[in-house]
Amino acid sequence: MTHARPTSPDWYADGLRFECTQCGNCCTGPTGFVWVSDEELSAIAAALGLSVSETESRYMRQLHGRRSLTETPGEHGYDCVFLDRTSVPGKAVCGIYRARPMQCRTWPFWPENLRHPRDWQRAARTCPGINTGPLIPVESIRIQRETTPG
Ligand code: SF4
Repeated sequence: MTHARPTSPDWYADGLRFECTQCGNCCTGPTGFVWVSDEELSAIAAALGLSVSETESRYMRQLHGRRSLTETPGEHGYDCVFLDRTSVPGKAVCGIYRARPMQCRTWPFWPENLRHPRDWQRAARTCPGINTGPLIPVESIRIQRETTPG
């Protein structure tokens, strides 16, 4: 009986290429969640010029006992409530980019995309920024992987 050799967690020790094309694919699709911490909620409220409670009631919902951004159904699937498809022609941009939650900042270096090269390639099928652009060093990838809210 043979066993497949486990893939080293450092299969990306030489780094991975990534550069966002602002297609918006990672901000839409099947319904999902983007976790928002108290600090992130405050930052988003400040960016919008709204109170924390108004920001939370307008743009967030409780899911599994946690706070998540809401979604807007559309032709591409369920868009993040802050996905802006109109301001920049041909692009889908984040309406709260400077205040976006950590989960958005660390894509595509999420643990589930880094488990195995085939998980990375699977993510690349919907994210055209994967395997393009500058080489992101392993140290940076590890930090992003570890800070992704689970
Ligand atoms: S799917 Fe990839 S390329 Fe498209 S917006 Fe998201 S990170 Fe950028």
